[in-house]
Amino acid sequence: MVDRWKGWGCMVDRMKSNFAYRKTSSIVDTSAESQPVWFGNEDISDADEPMLKPLLMEGFNQWVNETGLPLFEAGEFALFNRAGEEIAAAGALNEDKRSAYTDSLAALIHEVTSSGEARSETAANMSLTAYPLYRRKDKAVFCIFVYVTRVESSIELPILEMCALHFKSCFYHQFEQIYVKDLLLQQERAEKEADRRDALFKAAKRLYDQIDVSSVLSELLRSMEDLYPSSEVHLYLSQDHLNGDPRVKPLIFKNAEHDLVAKAFLNGKSVTEHDRDGTLRLAVPMTGKQAAYGVLCMSIGPGKWDEADLPAFLLLADTSGSAFENAKLYEQSNLLINELRLINELTKRLNQSLRLKEIFQFATSELLTIFDADYCCVLQLNKVKNQFVVMSSNFPALTSEEFSPDYGFCGMVFRTQEPLIISDYWHTRVVTSKLMDNTSSRSLIAAPIMVDGEAVGVILVTHKAPNFFSYENYKLLQVMSTHIGLAVTNASLHAEVRRMVITDNLTGLHARHYLNEQIQNKQRKDPFGSLILVDIDLFKRVNDTYGHQVGDRILIQVSEIIRASIRQGDIAARWGGEELAVYLPGIRAEQAYRIAERIRVHVEKETDPVVTVSCGVSEWTFEDEKISVESLFYRADMALYEAKHNGRNCIFVGQT
Ligand code: GH3
Ligand code: MG
Ligand code: MG
Repeated sequence: MVDRWKGWGCMVDRMKSNFAYRKTSSIVDTSAESQPVWFGNEDISDADEPMLKPLLMEGFNQWVNETGLPLFEAGEFALFNRAGEEIAAAGALNEDKRSAYTDSLAALIHEVTSSGEARSETAANMSLTAYPLYRRKDKAVFCIFVYVTRVESSIELPILEMCALHFKSCFYHQFEQIYVKDLLLQQERAEKEADRRDALFKAAKRLYDQIDVSSVLSELLRSMEDLYPSSEVHLYLSQDHLNGDPRVKPLIFKNAEHDLVAKAFLNGKSVTEHDRDGTLRLAVPMTGKQAAYGVLCMSIGPGKWDEADLPAFLLLADTSGSAFENAKLYEQSNLLINELRLINELTKRLNQSLRLKEIFQFATSELLTIFDADYCCVLQLNKVKNQFVVMSSNFPALTSEEFSPDYGFCGMVFRTQEPLIISDYWHTRVVTSKLMDNTSSRSLIAAPIMVDGEAVGVILVTHKAPNFFSYENYKLLQVMSTHIGLAVTNASLHAEVRRMVITDNLTGLHARHYLNEQIQNKQRKDPFGSLILVDIDLFKRVNDTYGHQVGDRILIQVSEIIRASIRQGDIAARWGGEELAVYLPGIRAEQAYRIAERIRVHVEKETDPVVTVSCGVSEWTFEDEKISVESLFYRADMALYEAKHNGRNCIFVGQT
């Protein structure tokens, strides 16, 4: 049907344009007395001449079928085109006789064609009558209708005219049928095109409505299913955005020359290929403004593809590229905002604490949440021991564990001072790791904690599943470890300042205000405690004799002796000048006396030049009427005064 129609291209095109013209032109409408003009004015032209033959044949056959005249028995009707070529014939004539009048008939047809008038002639005892048929519009002869019979049964011209005109209407009927078929086909095509455009518009709108990458991909595949139901669609992505749909695959450039998909991606153009079984494979790059993101690939069985579907397919790939890019940018900006928010939050919280242990514990819990990780472990380098100490971990077995600085992933990060990502520890066991082994972890991200360009600790974050952490996670941990490093620096500086504030420079003992604070604290919690005041005897004389520098050295020696004579938890301080004090929590006066005695003996024995000390001891208990630091000192001072008055180098205990 379509093939036949195709042959009439130029005629049909002209008909269409005439039709369109009539619809818009008022001139034609008025001449047609306001009646709607249908095919009546449609006509063939010279340009249609080469294609008229089948139409004339069909018109003739139709006429033959509709005509039941006995004329067919007496002679033969024949149809000739303008060129004198016989198109069709019907009737009963002896074929052998034909040659006798062929030339005369040809001459007659030629004459009728050029004169445009019907003629009759006799040749070889045959009557030949030819009737010219004119085109509707320009009245040009387009075929000649002929009747040949024996002379005795020759036809009257009006009868032949009637037959010829009947044939003409049959011919135009065929011609109009083609016109109608063409219109219907056009309409069908237009409707299909409109449907496709509508579906495409809806698909594009749905694609642009999606704000996350995964939904864009699902929507694209759904739209493809709607638009090309008999096709098989695959999406190859150059980026890691697999959404669980088996039709979405990673784009792998294994053999770029042979792979249709890789070719489309690398050239940025659509590529078509026919398989041996006739299946069409079409690969179109999915491109945005900034980059190509993948390739949309469609396989469609033989005969199911309409070339007219291609622009829609290309447009859909293009739209999905832009939608994918938009969603990706949106996702990325969201990710960045989230990261900034997290960093801001973490920094704020980290800076709220100036205690290292607290910082590490907080970092551990935060990192577990942020990365949705299974385990986290923060280690700090103890420079004195040259060991990494686990400061905080949600895996209790590791708490306070110590590791050599070259052990495991911690050692690796410490050595390289670079962050680390391990996708699957079970497959890439570069080092042995107690954390990974004991927790059955397979994924790891790790980063050093840097302070002043030096690694002071390491953060390890793990998950039991392989390939759990993304590159973004790895980068984020790096950023976060920087902030944890800053918090560690702050806390260390703060600890150092505090140490300086509470420590006496010369003796290394605590400062007086610290001792006061501590006694006050203890008096709130403990049931009792004692204080020893130690004063170097005749120290002015030492200074005068040996000079202040030696005096200072003696002061240091005495301080050392005190430090060595007390337990951890006792607090020794420089009370002022050459007076030193020791607070002994949970110790009664008797025992304090013994400790003071120990100090006194050691000083006398070990100082050089030799000095002696006098001590005043006082105690407080929860039973006291009034408990205060001042009263404790006052009583110790009184006792010391007594010791001085009793010959020095001795110890007195103050009365409560
Ligand atoms: P005593 O306590 O036995 O009664 O006699 P003393 O000579 O020690 O008398 P006092 O306690 O009143 O004198 C304290 C002296 O200690 C005064 C000062 O020269 C000296 N002194 C105080 N602080 C320092 C110090 O930091 N370094 C040195 N070298 N001497 C100090
Ligand atoms: Mg003194
Ligand atoms: Mg003194």
